[in-house]
Amino acid sequence: VTDWQGKHVTVAGLGVSGIPAAKVLHGLGAIVTVVNDGDDERARAQAAELEALGVTVRLGDGATLPEGTELIVTAPGWQPDKPLFTAAAAAGVPVWGDVELAWRLRGLDGREPAPWLAVTGTNGKTTTVQMLASILKAAGLRTAAVGNIGVSLLDAVLGEEEYDVLAVELSSYQLHWAPSLRAHSGVVLNLAPDHLDWHGSMEAYAADKGRIYEGNRVACVYNVADKATEDLVRAADVEEGCRAVGFTLGAPGPSQLGVVDGILVDRAFVENRQRNAQELAEVSDVTPPAPHNIANALAAAALARAFGVPPRAVRDGLRDFTPDAHRIAHVADVDEVAYVDDSKATNTHAAEASLAAYESIVWIAGGLAKGAAFDELVARSAKRLRGVVLIGADRALIREALARHAPEVPVVDLDRTDTGAMLAAVQEARRLAEPGDTVLLAPACASMDMFANYNKRGDAFAEAVRELGA
Ligand code: ADP
Repeated sequence: VTDWQGKHVTVAGLGVSGIPAAKVLHGLGAIVTVVNDGDDERARAQAAELEALGVTVRLGDGATLPEGTELIVTAPGWQPDKPLFTAAAAAGVPVWGDVELAWRLRGLDGREPAPWLAVTGTNGKTTTVQMLASILKAAGLRTAAVGNIGVSLLDAVLGEEEYDVLAVELSSYQLHWAPSLRAHSGVVLNLAPDHLDWHGSMEAYAADKGRIYEGNRVACVYNVADKATEDLVRAADVEEGCRAVGFTLGAPGPSQLGVVDGILVDRAFVENRQRNAQELAEVSDVTPPAPHNIANALAAAALARAFGVPPRAVRDGLRDFTPDAHRIAHVADVDEVAYVDDSKATNTHAAEASLAAYESIVWIAGGLAKGAAFDELVARSAKRLRGVVLIGADRALIREALARHAPEVPVVDLDRTDTGAMLAAVQEARRLAEPGDTVLLAPACASMDMFANYNKRGDAFAEAVRELGA
């Protein structure tokens, strides 16, 4: 679509992606209708704002395809089996997500579009994209971390600011709705069951993640320890000359980045042909130096190197990087016990990574399980657990897994979902902890049963720890 004038576009969903999309499309001359399931006060206020511009908004009806629709631009979270999409398929109407729209609008203003370095995976996306942006900046490139964080994709593509390259975070939903995206290089960091209710199956979830590799020009970066990511590379249709590049926490093979004696080493992009490896940075340049985070750093380094960034910029960029809040954030030491907030560990795979980073742990867990099973997580982490404090709606699932795989570990089941529960949990954890231990909030669950989001949950934890110390 190049001529938007008079085109009938339906935007599915008010919200963070829908409102800007509606405005942009309206500005391009399209005839825009927004459809939205909800019809609450907030939606009405948002609708009023759009209607003032001349956009039509239908509240309380996200199912009916408006007459004459030529294109749907959907919020990424809308599930593919919704009636709106069934109707669209029957009518031959294409459906784009927010990423597809941004991708198609690149260069609209006549500027040469910036290439995308794209990051997906079950866990570590935000961290990796931020590390990548930090590295690219250290190389003197004009760039931004784009996606769920920082600058929105539409702003990055259409805004005033000029970029040499973008570090783009993509969710499995966004990839599902982005059929023509072609990144310079991409990575699937890891693959573990998540959002299966949305995608329908693990295969469908993996296939959507794998789209990130489609049409890559320079490198498809995969996780050597996670064979499924390499399989996705092999299955992808890429540009000629595009290479498969692995990252590993062990010594790297040819065409891989890895770790040797505490040094991050690159054997994929070696400038000096006399050598077979290039030193990039030290493990201690990465914050926090937990194994999963070293993996994120290697993935970011691989994408930066694929873009031609020199080794020194990788080191400087990693040194400059500080993680976002609630991601293995050290809150305080109280009585020689460290309190660590990894509220962002909202699934079992993430929680397993953070539990692997400590030796003797009092683990605070629980919340909304989203259909997950906890047996593997508990079995693999059992030997590190001094004790467990459970909160939240689905805590029984974790309690049962603990009974099966770690019967000797003391468990406090708080049987609470009220907002005061976090303080009680931290107090219980303190009782269980001994000097040298870590009290780790890594819930392995979503937060919405007790908190507005994982930020609020982490804040409540930090607040409770401060009360302990006071
Ligand atoms: P995402 O954007 O994919 O949600 P984040 O970078 O925000 O990822 O990290 C979310 C959580 O996932 C972290 O708090 C940590 O517990 C865990 N995590 C981060 N990187 C990894 C990784 N490479 N493998 C497994 N878990 C990870």
